Amino acid sequence: MKAYLVYDHAARVKVRRVKEAIGRLRAFGLGPVGEVALRRIRDEDWLEAWKAQFGPIRIGPFFIRPSWSDAAAAETTIVLDPGMAFGTGLHPTTRQCLEALGERTLKGRSVLDVGTGSGILAIAAAKRGARPVVGVDTDPLAVRAATENAARNDVRVDVRAGSAADVEGRYELVVANLVAEVLVPVAPELRARLASGGTVIVAGIVAEKEQGVIDAFAAAGLAVAGRDQQDDWVRLDLR
Ligand code: SAH
Repeated sequence: MKAYLVYDHAARVKVRRVKEAIGRLRAFGLGPVGEVALRRIRDEDWLEAWKAQFGPIRIGPFFIRPSWSDAAAAETTIVLDPGMAFGTGLHPTTRQCLEALGERTLKGRSVLDVGTGSGILAIAAAKRGARPVVGVDTDPLAVRAATENAARNDVRVDVRAGSAADVEGRYELVVANLVAEVLVPVAPELRARLASGGTVIVAGIVAEKEQGVIDAFAAAGLAVAGRDQQDDWVRLDLR
């Protein structure tokens, strides 16, 4: 078992507790019990470590490749360097959103991507002709990664720091790959950014939280028009 912790006082306390607990297991004669090994890694090392797992992938009409690969394909290509932001396409929730984007006519449609992360969904929408495309994220690292990735893909995405409440105007498509705990409170704000007749696509919902999300959007005046489930993850299309 490996765990990654920010190396601060709280982490040192946790490590001490783990060591004590393991010591007690030994005292009970429960063995063999391994040693707790600690290693400090720098953020840069962490970046390199996961890069090894991110190869080119196909999702719907999209071909997503990391900036350090030169693989080519006939599909709409998205070149990504997520940095420390979330959104490589490897996660089922990102995949579900890309599939939804791939199935829609986006040409000339306005799109808002709330929690843009690496910018992957906003870039995908822009590549399929959506405009204007706006991406927001509360994490400054994501804002930077998404801005750089949009430039790398030669598409126009307006990336801003903040959330749905910090954006003006209305969008024909609002996509938000967030967790249920975030989607529930922001439901009214997502609704407020939606043009009449538009669709909100939400993902990142674990199956057991689905009803709570449906209820929150129902209270905001939106009903389920489509649904997808992959593993434990649910995507809802709301109108
Ligand atoms: N859209 C990408 C990334 C999703 S991860 C993809 O589909 O792969 C979710 C992102 O939402 C993270 O980058 C996180 O920083 C951001 N986030 C979390 N809470 C938020 C909020 N209330 N408003 C906007 N962004 C938020």
